[in-house]
Order: sequence, then structure tokens, then C-alpha cells
Amino acid sequence: MTDKPVYLIINPRSGYGGRKRQLANLRGELAKAGYDLVEYVTKYAGDATRYAREIAGQAEAVISFGGDGTVNEVANGLLGTDVPMLAAPAGTENLLAKELQIPSNPADLVKVLATGQAMRCDMGMINGRSFHSIVGVGFDAEVVRRVSAGRTGHISHLSYFWPIWRTFWEHNFPTLRVTADGRDVFQGRGLAFVGNISRYSIGLRICRDARFDDGLLDLVVFECDRQTGLILHAGWTMLRRHPLKGNCIYEEPERIHIETDQPLTCQVDGDVGPESPLEISVAEHRITLIVPQSRSRWTLPMWPWKGAPL
Ligand SMILES: [Mg+2]
Repeated sequence: MTDKPVYLIINPRSGYGGRKRQLANLRGELAKAGYDLVEYVTKYAGDATRYAREIAGQAEAVISFGGDGTVNEVANGLLGTDVPMLAAPAGTENLLAKELQIPSNPADLVKVLATGQAMRCDMGMINGRSFHSIVGVGFDAEVVRRVSAGRTGHISHLSYFWPIWRTFWEHNFPTLRVTADGRDVFQGRGLAFVGNISRYSIGLRICRDARFDDGLLDLVVFECDRQTGLILHAGWTMLRRHPLKGNCIYEEPERIHIETDQPLTCQVDGDVGPESPLEISVAEHRITLIVPQSRSRWTLPMWPWKGAPL
């Protein structure tokens, strides 16, 4: 431990229920472990990025206390520095924290901070800003846009039910043109995902082979023009066999370009992202993340049938 403080960046609008107690316990555990703590509570979008950038020079580590949106903001502020970030799972969805197997229990979280391993990880870049987990174009972006438009405060998984239901029936699958490392890989109706990690909501592993330190992004395009097709894709994705299907593209490029027949906002780390056309690339080893010393191999994206002929 150095004599520099640990900064705790809190998004008070993240998650729901029980987070206040989790936060109080985290403060207690950090004090018990002898950390000098500086807290910052965000008010507006962009606060976490600005603040993380400001304090990067004097921080031993930065803890992001919120969901994936908060991690995204803090990571944008720490991009290119060697200040380690710990993603505390305190939001509705905590894809990065789950992928890294970071515990939510405050005592265990402080143990990870004290004894964890600092890993240089990739970030994805999309139209000039970074993302840590996943970008979606098409169906899921439409759901996120609807949830965001109707959001009045905290959101829970239940907040997604009606937007998913309505999008399912009303969605018009856009025509996408996708190039990967300069090659045309898809043109047609469907939905696309670009992942730095394997996880997505409700446990789906859309970018199932993605690793956050391999200098590549995982691109998945599902060819789809109707609701029944979407259900079939979802089924194959639950079985984690979707890359083997003829109407699914699975590639691991460094650069991806996506155009749509009309401008569409995409989904970035669970929030509303920029409008298409999209220029997506990987920024190799641009952020330091604190991860537990040992992680269970069963949740790593390794599958016995990867690359095996079937
Ligand atoms: Mg990767």
C-alpha cells in the first residue's frame, strides 16, 4: 500500500434497494483495512469521467461504485493511465464485474483491492469514446433507447419488461452493412454486437469467446428479419452454439465499421450510445483493472467445442 488515497466514485442513481447498506459496509471495511478514502458522488452524466481524469495522478486506486454505465464513465477518465480501477458491482447490471468475478460483499471486495492482481485490459473504442463490455446495434439498442426515454429514477430488471415486449412486436430489423478489418462480412437485415467481454444480460454469452486482453474484439451479427428468427437466435445463444449457425457471423477483428440504412443509436455498455455509422476499434491494454487473484475457470470463456468440427 502507498500513502496515496483510494478514491470511491459513487453513482447514487445506480441499482436499487440495499445499496446504501452495501456502501456503508464498504466504507467500514476500507477504514478497517487502513485505507485513506476520498469519496465523490456523481450528479450528472459525465461527472465520473471528469473527476476520474482529475484525480488519476494522486490515486492509489479508484473504485467505481455503480453499474456498467458508471464503470464506463470512470474507465473513460482513467484511459491510458496506469491507475488501477476496481469495478464494485452496485448497479442493475454489472457485466464487467461479473466477468471479472468481483464480489459484491464489502469485506470480500476490500480483500480483492488489497490482494488482487492488476491486469492491463483492452477497451473498445466507438466513434471516439471507449467501452468496456459490449456494443449492440438493432434490437437491443432499441430496447435501451426506450428504457432510457422512460427512465425517471432507479431502474431494475423489471424496467426492461415492457420495452422488450413492445420492441419485440414493433421492431423493424434494420439493414446493416458490416466490415471487419476492411473486409465486407455482412449485408442484410439483422442485429449486431461487438464485445470486449463474453457476457450479456440474462446470462447470454453473445460474444462467447471474447477475452478482454487479447487485442481483438468479438463481432457477432445475427441475420434476422422477423420475430421468429430472433427467438431462434436467442435459443441458440442460450445453448452457446450460435457461432456454428449459418445465419450468424462470428469474427474476431481489430476494426469494425457498421452502417445502417437510416441513422440508428446504438447501445454502449447498457446505455444509449452514438448514432450510426459506427467506427469501432480496440485500444489494447489501455486500462488497469483489479481482479481477484484466482478466478474460477468455469466462468472463463472457454468451451470444449470451440474450433472443433461438429
Ligand atoms: Mg478481446
